[in-house]
Amino acid sequence: MKLPTQPFIDGAYRAGTGAPIQLINPASAAPLGAVEGVSVAEANAAVESAQRAWESGWRDLAPGRRAEILFNVARVLRENLEPLAQLECANIGKPIGDARDEIGLGAKVFEYYAGAVGKYFGQTIPVSRGGLDFTLRQSMGVIAAIVPWNFPFPIAAWKAAPALAAGNTVVLKPASLSPLTALRLGELAHAAGLPAGVLQILPGSGREVGDALVTHPLIRKVSFTGSTEIGRRVMELASRDLKRISLELGGKSPNIVFADSDWERAAAASPMSVFANTGQDCCARSRMYVERSVYAGFVDRFVAATRALIVGDPRLDATQIGPMVSAGQRESVEEYLADARRSGARIACGGDRPAGAGFFLNPTVLLDVGRGDRCWREEIFGPVVAITPFDDEAEMLRDVNASPYGLSGSIWTNDLRRALRVSRTVQSGVLSVNSHSSVHVEAPFGGFKQSGIGRDLGMAAMDGYTEVKNIYISES
Ligand code: NAP
Repeated sequence: MKLPTQPFIDGAYRAGTGAPIQLINPASAAPLGAVEGVSVAEANAAVESAQRAWESGWRDLAPGRRAEILFNVARVLRENLEPLAQLECANIGKPIGDARDEIGLGAKVFEYYAGAVGKYFGQTIPVSRGGLDFTLRQSMGVIAAIVPWNFPFPIAAWKAAPALAAGNTVVLKPASLSPLTALRLGELAHAAGLPAGVLQILPGSGREVGDALVTHPLIRKVSFTGSTEIGRRVMELASRDLKRISLELGGKSPNIVFADSDWERAAAASPMSVFANTGQDCCARSRMYVERSVYAGFVDRFVAATRALIVGDPRLDATQIGPMVSAGQRESVEEYLADARRSGARIACGGDRPAGAGFFLNPTVLLDVGRGDRCWREEIFGPVVAITPFDDEAEMLRDVNASPYGLSGSIWTNDLRRALRVSRTVQSGVLSVNSHSSVHVEAPFGGFKQSGIGRDLGMAAMDGYTEVKNIYISES
């Protein structure tokens, strides 16, 4: 497999003279290759060339032509689905079936926003003075997109596609652990007709290159997905010149199972709501509340379904759970497990590494976790779930909402009034009833509280990549 090794700038792969990024295949722990990182000076120059690409063409291109190019990008991505999926699988150990789905999702995102170009517009407003008052939705300029390693391709697509559709240009910094599919995205989008400089891919250190982008005076908006800690720093730096920001951050999402639900189905479906992507998922339902009358039966079924998950080689079609992304990420999760053991939690299954190389960790079910314990309160970002019984709906919801996070969650009930009542009460940006579906290209995605600011996906994303201009034309 041929890996991209250089930043994609001004329509071509070019040398990067910043710190090189060494890649390790997480499934084997063997070196995979290296990518040249950009220096701060190269990142700054790329922002300036993205500004020129905005001013000298992309901003003023006929919307129909912009749409055509983005449809073309979607087509070219689909044509390259398999090599892109293989690349993601090797880079971060993503099971190949999931990797294919995610590349397909990225292509669909480009298609959706290509279609949005001609369907997104301002308003005419009957102002009291008479005359004609109307709004324009205008592009902003250069957008800095900073993305994490857990869903590298779809998140890159769901930032780049609406920003480009709205007429902006984009500089995208992939996470250092996962630069490969983002680099190919730059190359393929250019081959599909995106002019040089409109989408630049800048691998490099978050601390240096990320900071340089967030503080660059030509960047009009920072669209960030990552941890709450770094999101806070991005917000502080961006406040210096009042840059627009959107932040998609961490989560500690609840999965609430009522006794009146089809709880056996919930028990069968719920392991993948937390263990998919080896638990490295901002939407992972890592806190489970199960009504006491069905708790024992639910736990038995949930543990049996967890034990049946296929953990192993991510290149195989049957694999459901691949390795963790890095040795460090696995160690961080194991520290949480040590903490849980010390606090008296019971491990119903998992908690250990399977034999062999690679950064694998078996899916782990914790019982008897105290509500003040770290494993109950903090985002673990690994294959760990804690399950607790509840007796009283109101008390359970108080605990759900005591979290500083508010990203996602699921409710299982067959009582429609309860579904509505609980959905309205849970403080989170995304909720699903009798399902674990969190992400729909057509619907807004984002968090309440410390899970973020702003929304990705749906038409809401277009609002985030445009400024509203009001124009009044006098009749007198
Ligand atoms: P992270 O450490 O915050 O990194 C995210 C991105 O920020 C990476 O590209 C990173 O670059 C960059 N970065 C690091 N320091 C920076 C700085 N000082 N200034 C600007 N950029 C900087 O997060 P992660 O470990 O990659 O991802 C896991 C986190 O993302 C979890 O908390 C998860 O919940 C969250 N997440 C949220 C969503 C959502 O939609 N809400 C989706 C996915 C993931 P380097 O890689 O070079 O350090």
